[in-house]
Order: sequence, then C-alpha cells, then structure tokens
Amino acid sequence: MEATDALVLGCGVSGLTTAILLQRQGRRVTIWARDVPPHTTSNIAAAVWYPYRAFPVDRVLKWGAVAYDTFRELAGKPDTGVILANVLDLQPEPDAADPWWAESVDGFRHARPDELPRGYGDGFVFDAPVIDTSIYLDYLRSQFEAAGGVIVAARVVRDLSEAFAACNLVVNCTGLGARELVHDAKLRPSRGQVARIRHTGFRRVILDDYGPNSLAYIVPRINDIILGGTAIDDEESTAIDSAETPAILRRCAGLSPEFAAVTEDDILEVKVGLRPVRDEVRLEVETPASGRWLISNYGHGGAGITLSWGCAAEVAERVGAITTP
Ligand SMILES: Cc1cc2nc3c(=O)[nH]c(=O)nc-3n(C[C@H](O)[C@H](O)[C@H](O)COP(=O)(O)OP(=O)(O)OC[C@H]3O[C@@H](n4cnc5c(N)ncnc54)[C@H](O)[C@@H]3O)c2cc1C
Repeated sequence: MEATDALVLGCGVSGLTTAILLQRQGRRVTIWARDVPPHTTSNIAAAVWYPYRAFPVDRVLKWGAVAYDTFRELAGKPDTGVILANVLDLQPEPDAADPWWAESVDGFRHARPDELPRGYGDGFVFDAPVIDTSIYLDYLRSQFEAAGGVIVAARVVRDLSEAFAACNLVVNCTGLGARELVHDAKLRPSRGQVARIRHTGFRRVILDDYGPNSLAYIVPRINDIILGGTAIDDEESTAIDSAETPAILRRCAGLSPEFAAVTEDDILEVKVGLRPVRDEVRLEVETPASGRWLISNYGHGGAGITLSWGCAAEVAERVGAITTP
C-alpha cells in the first residue's frame, strides 16, 4: 500500500466524510471498503436531515447541528445533490410537545389545522436539508479523490490486525459491518424499503413516524421522489418485499391526497437497506497497542447522513489531539 497517515474502513457517508476531514488536516488518507457507492446503505437513504433512531440525545444534538450547518452551505452548490426543503412532520395527537431537536432547525413552528391531513392532531413544520444520495455520495467521493485520497474497493477486512499491519491510525466506519468486524453485539439491523418514483412537482417533505400511516414518508429530491417506508428490527433480508410496495404507496396517499394518483407504473426503482441501529452511536478512541489508534465511528441508526459532518468533525478533532500528520 502507498504511504498513508490514516486508514478509513468503509466507504459510506461516515467513511467518506471522515476521510475528507482527516485530509483537511493535511493527512494522506486511504479507504478500504467491501462496497463503494452506489452499493452502500448510505445510497439507499433518501435522505432528509432528521435525527431518527440515533442516540444519545446530547451528542446527537451536537453532531446533528454541525451537519445541518454544513448541508445548508452545500445546498448553495449545484453539484452536491443537497437542497433545502420545507418539512411537515405529522403528529397523531393535538398540542404535541416540541421535539428535543426543535432548536437545531430553521423556521420551527407547529402546523396550522389546514395543513394537516385527516387523522392527525398536530405537526412540526421546519426547514431541513434533503440530500440526494445518488448525487451526494459521488460528490464526496470526487472531493476525496481530487485531494489525493485513495479508495480500495472490494477490500473486505476480516480482522483489525490486517488494517494495523498497513497503518497505525485506523478509523472504523463499517456501519452494520462492525457487527462481524469487531463483534459488536449491540448493533442490530432495521430493514427499510423505499420506492423511487417520477417527480410529480410536489416539493414538501412529509413524515409520519407515529401516526395512523406510520411509517410513511414523502421525500422529494432534485430529479425524483422517495416514498417510504418500513423499519423492521432484526430483519436481515435485503430482498424486496413485493407486498410492501403497494402498502407504501397507500400510506403515502394518506399523507397527501396528491399521492393517491401514484401507481406502480410510476415507480422507477424499489430499494431495501439495513439501518445500523445501536443503543448509542459508537464514537470513541482506543489504543490497542502503543503508537496505534483505533477510532470507531459507526452505529448511526436511521440518521447516518444527518450526523455525518458532526461525527466526522469529532473524529478529526480527537485524531488532531493524539497525533500530528
Ligand atoms: C431505507 C432507509 C432510509 C434512510 N433514510 C435516512 C434519512 O433520511 N436520513 C439519514 O440521515 N439517514 C437515513 N438512513 C440511515 C443511513 O442510511 C445510515 O445511518 C448510514 O447510511 C450509515 O452510514 P455508514 O457510512 O455508517 O454505513 P454504510 O453506508 O453501510 O457504509 C459502510 C461501509 O463499510 C463497508 N464495510 C462493512 N464491513 C466491512 C468490512 N468488514 N471490511 C471492509 N469494508 C466493510 C461497506 O462496504 C461500506 O462501504 C436510512 C437508511 C435506510 C435503510
């Protein structure tokens, strides 16, 4: 392998973002990954900035705020795939308490009654980045490679000793793969299925996590719309459940009547991915031997894109405190 100052394992959003921030410290960085975009879980996320199924709350708030600010800046650049959208997050009961992340977003307010579809008592309205991962992951990859970064694809790491044989500073961004790689029994898959449909011109993001249509979401992107979804814990199969697709369309029609007209003929693609759910995101530094550092950055649940820049910034800060390039 070429001389490298940091070896990042994984080429999803966590690995690429972390690798870029380590490069910005002046390090030569290499990525080893089993799969690279467009074949990562990160490519299956729509994705909207939203702290879904990621813990602990205090660190998620900090990481999410950093990422929100970075995505807001990226939304001004056309090649990134990032846009800013207005979001309606539906709540089943009236007078819902403000969510714990309300102060992290711009323009937070409660929905007016005329904005609520039938069956909902309240809603949170706010502005949030929507990250079209079909464009954004390629953007990250080109940024990394343009700065001299090397990506080795189809490189499956079975034991961390393989990585330490190549570099003394290893960052583990293997998502659900960390379950096998470091035998982390706290990691669990949560299976999600989505349908990508032709753009209808609809522009608002609508989410229902807890209400009568849950789980359902409509995420308009630049060139298409993602309709979701499912979150089935401990389900490992990434095979498409063909009965689930019409059910997703039905639930999305419950969020906005415009989607009642969508049929299976409008579907461009159906995708399934496994969210890397953990009781807490694992972001910590260990020293397995003198002069060797292992930094973990995985277990982001349903919010890996939402937290990406915040987690990567903390990794870079911690690395900066222990070693200089
Ligand atoms: C349907 C669905 C919708 C979602 N929607 C959103 C959303 O709207 N917003 C949001 O923020 N998040 C969303 N998520 C969650 C988000 O996709 C994940 O949290 C995120 O992709 C995790 O990124 P990652 O880089 O950690 O992992 P991954 O993208 O899974 O990348 C892991 C990398 O590690 C590699 N790897 C694994 N094991 C090994 C090994 N042993 N050796 C070498 N390489 C290895 C893989 O090949 C891959 O390159 C959604 C997820 C799903 C499934």
